[in-house]
Amino acid sequence: MDFSKFDWKFNLFGIPVRVMATFWLVCVFFSPFSSGNDGPWLFGLLGWSAAMLLTFLAHEFGHALSMRKLYGGVPQIDLGIGHTQSGAFVFGGLTTARTRDVSFGKHALTSAAGPLAELASVLVFVIILSLFGTRFEISTSLFGIPVLTPLTESFTSIIKSPAALYFVYYFAHGFIWLGIVWGLFNLAPIFPCDGGQILLAVLGKSLGPSGVRLTFGISFILAVAVAAYFLLNGSVFMPLFFGYTAYQNYNLMRGMRG
Ligand SMILES: [Zn+2]
Repeated sequence: MDFSKFDWKFNLFGIPVRVMATFWLVCVFFSPFSSGNDGPWLFGLLGWSAAMLLTFLAHEFGHALSMRKLYGGVPQIDLGIGHTQSGAFVFGGLTTARTRDVSFGKHALTSAAGPLAELASVLVFVIILSLFGTRFEISTSLFGIPVLTPLTESFTSIIKSPAALYFVYYFAHGFIWLGIVWGLFNLAPIFPCDGGQILLAVLGKSLGPSGVRLTFGISFILAVAVAAYFLLNGSVFMPLFFGYTAYQNYNLMRGMRG
């Protein structure tokens, strides 16, 4: 089936962005609203989805702007689950550079720029919220991962409408939670995540083919561990993704043996 007619396309800072319809599915699965809720939760989901779009854009623009600077040309950003125009698989977000030969150093730099831009945007956001009197706690409410979370009381004193409260609270909660979790997970040395790209650049440069194989081996073990963690903590989506990632790395590793 062709879902491309549901694509949302726009340009930002001169960089073309395509938001696939599947992006909104990622928002639901990666939200606190995937297993039944009460209250005006739909407004919460809207706030969460808006936060997800912004934090993913911060991430991909970290890649895109550094690629444009270091490689030249205009990169393309794709968000959602699907494929880019050139056929690469997208899960969440992917920035495609318009260049072929890239040095190891530049590849490592542009890979790191995504998660770093995302984490920096969270830091700025938390500082702004704090200036407006928001207080925070470390909560493990979502998938058992300890993450900085704004206290609901910070908002209930200012916002009286339940719908607006749900929207604003889940926007703030989502922007921080997704930014930290997605940013840090992407820095994990699991190929093809950003951290895995950095590991591949470093080990490939220093050890050659055996370094590339080592990257896939490390990625395989970590992907299995992450999939198992999420399986034990009530996520359906993440075990599937990291299970598939483990399988990919296993095949890449075996492919290099002969
Ligand atoms: Zn990235």
